[in-house]
Amino acid sequence: MQQRGVTVWFTGLSGAGKTTISRGVEKQLRSRGCLVEILDGDIVRQNLTKGLGFSKEDRDENIRRIGFVSHLLTRNGVIVLVSAISPYREIREEVRNRIGDFVQVFVNAPLKVCEDRDVKGLYKKARAGEIKNFTGIDDPYQEPENPDVNCHTDLESEPQSVAKVLEYLEAKGYLPKV
Ligand code: ADP
Repeated sequence: MQQRGVTVWFTGLSGAGKTTISRGVEKQLRSRGCLVEILDGDIVRQNLTKGLGFSKEDRDENIRRIGFVSHLLTRNGVIVLVSAISPYREIREEVRNRIGDFVQVFVNAPLKVCEDRDVKGLYKKARAGEIKNFTGIDDPYQEPENPDVNCHTDLESEPQSVAKVLEYLEAKGYLPKV
């Protein structure tokens, strides 16, 4: 088996499109016969990082654990798709440096757009004060300075965003060109 492992890390605000794009990428990769694993923040927080909250320390610990598992899979030839808000630059860089084979995708949509989408109804709750430390509302999001891929999901369609990620993986030799 010739597949090269890589972590594709989707970062961005809640509702920006991380889960949607990563599922789209997963589908394409599976249809090409790749070994793929998904680590989605919402699901990971119910098991691997259960009990962690949303303080800076807990968010960093959440990302560190996701990064640890992602590293194990990546070095064994799996393409790992991580979607996690991961709002803090420093811990993202730490994980990137540890894993090495790492592609950072900024799932980039203005707060206003994410809030209008309010896919999970969380912005409404955050605005009402029912959720504290919500990224974009009363907790910071530090944008990536040099993302490998920048998906402007307010301006492009889901297939366009998915295609950008696949093209980057092809360009970097993680995926054979079709
Ligand atoms: P996140 O995982 O970042 O919280 P979701 O993927 O759950 O976000 O939700 C993103 C929403 O934005 C979905 O309803 C999706 O259909 C919509 N959307 C619109 N354009 C795009 C795009 N280009 N890429 C991804 N999602 C998009």
